[in-house]
Amino acid sequence: MKFEDLAIEKSILKALKDEGYERPTPIQEQAIPVILEGRDLIGCAQTGTGKTAAFAIPTIQRLLQEPKTFGKRQIRALIVTPTRELAIQIQDSFYAYSAYTNLRCCVIFGGVSQVPQEEELRQGVDILVATPGRLNDLVSQNIVNIHGIEIFILDEADRMLDMGFIHDIRKILTRVPEEKQTLLFSATMPPAIAKMSATLLKNPVKVETAVVSSTVDSIEQYLYYVDKPNKKHLLGWILKDKDIESALVFTRTKHGADRVVKQLAKLKISAQAIHGDKSQGARQRALSEFKNRTLRVLVATDIAARGIDIDELSHVINYELPNTPETYVHRIGRTGRAGLGGTAISFCDFDEKPLLQDIEKLIHKKIEIVQDHPYPLQNNFPAEKTTQPRVKPQAKEKAQPRVKSQPKVNKQPQTKLKTNRQPGVRTDRKKTNQ
Ligand code: AMP
Repeated sequence: MKFEDLAIEKSILKALKDEGYERPTPIQEQAIPVILEGRDLIGCAQTGTGKTAAFAIPTIQRLLQEPKTFGKRQIRALIVTPTRELAIQIQDSFYAYSAYTNLRCCVIFGGVSQVPQEEELRQGVDILVATPGRLNDLVSQNIVNIHGIEIFILDEADRMLDMGFIHDIRKILTRVPEEKQTLLFSATMPPAIAKMSATLLKNPVKVETAVVSSTVDSIEQYLYYVDKPNKKHLLGWILKDKDIESALVFTRTKHGADRVVKQLAKLKISAQAIHGDKSQGARQRALSEFKNRTLRVLVATDIAARGIDIDELSHVINYELPNTPETYVHRIGRTGRAGLGGTAISFCDFDEKPLLQDIEKLIHKKIEIVQDHPYPLQNNFPAEKTTQPRVKPQAKEKAQPRVKSQPKVNKQPQTKLKTNRQPGVRTDRKKTNQ
């Protein structure tokens, strides 16, 4: 199927061509016609499936089809998403796909001054992308008016719940009009989301791509059993492999992320961390350096990594296994995006074995164990019950890390890396029909 077969307007088709998209992904094929019909929708899609375009393309088209010809611009489409990074990326997508229209899109999020966002809003916007807290703040201050929205999109609903945004979401729901089209996207459908959608959506169509437990087939997964104190050495040893072009390393905590960066620095491997305690500027800088390949190793916590969208990320490394198995699927989904291959490496110490069991149960497969490395697991005791000294490597440097040199590609048209624009404002236009 081609985008033309989905009755998409010429101006949008032109923009999609600029992005290098040749054909719709499965979620786009399913969701676009339903949204264009004006129906409510629940989209159950894991990361990297093209879900942003699945809602952004038809949203733009619906706004174009029913233009508001009089009065000041007012917000007609509202997209609520959990993190700043994700909000910026969604805005980037709207910006790209609406490049040949006169629609205006703006993004608002917390942690930065609201003044530039206010100025942008004052000029009038059609599409607003927002994180929940800042949205409620600006609505309370009468800076944002969402009474007139026609399309309401809740993105990454499960993550919003995880991050404790439920009260903010409830508040937003009291502020949007009853009559509207609602789209809810979530990678998983925990009972709380199912309950929320039952009250929020009217006769919704459910579209779903691969279930979250079926990890993207194009990703190669490897497991390294290692003692906790040796993880840093194993990471350094693995990263010495120059075939690893870009690695996103996951830790469970912010402190853990900072620690890994310091440990790598001692090994002369430059890395940067992104997490909630870093300033917005520092996060953006690290992210853009990682995207443009001047930074090879980025260390992130799950929440900070949520919005990272990088084409052709070759490796994801789980320095620590996540507490919930679904998070493992989200993490490794950072590589293998939109059909690209990639490699996911996981470290597992004695205490993490139960977490590994949960993951393998969810993904219905055993992760391939790499035995041949210099820091094999030796302490088969829970960490708190042993005071054994750090285990010496058995056969230092004897084997090459078990990493794939080139991800196998089942390549979707390569999409351009998004540039590091200043978030919040959309000032220039490629071309408008105004
Ligand atoms: P998402 O799942 O929305 O985070 O999208 C993942 C990546 O796929 C993004 O980098 C998009 O630019 C890219 N993408 C989305 N739709 C298509 C498409 N139809 N063809 C090629 N790449 C796409």
